[in-house]
Amino acid sequence: MRDSNCIFCKIVAGEIPSNTIYEDEEFKVFLDISPATKGHALIVPKQHYKDIYDIDEEVAARAMKLGKKLATHMTEVLACDGFNLMQNNNEAAGQTVFHFHLHLIPRYLGSKNNDILNWSHETFMAEEMAEIRDSLAL
Ligand code: AMP
Ligand code: ZN
Repeated sequence: MRDSNCIFCKIVAGEIPSNTIYEDEEFKVFLDISPATKGHALIVPKQHYKDIYDIDEEVAARAMKLGKKLATHMTEVLACDGFNLMQNNNEAAGQTVFHFHLHLIPRYLGSKNNDILNWSHETFMAEEMAEIRDSLAL
């Protein structure tokens, strides 16, 4: 399954170059072309899935397993101080490439780009929180 207009499908097929750090039958992992930090990489399944809603759950589970392995390896090699795994779905959440990917973002104390994930906070009344909790209970 691939989408002929998809830039990550083209990278997977080798039609567009990438700085690949890991590859197996199911995934390709390459450096983000516009990195938030040194070493910022993307885990990309070779099959085209749009997002978290579309991806096969076993593939998603294996992507996270690979995320754990690479976070550990990259932390050792890069000697970073922390690590974010991040995954965006739909434009409203900041997704710009509509082929599922998991961001691997090494974090460094004292680096100039340290507020990349600093969001402001919303406040909800206790009753609203209870309503939200009840509506979300599985
Ligand atoms: P997202 O905003 O979660 O959809 O992330 C898409 C990411 O893909 C961005 O961080 C881009 O910098 C990155 N990106 C886009 N094109 C390329 C490319 N050709 N090679 C590597 N990374 C890319
Ligand atoms: Zn694709």
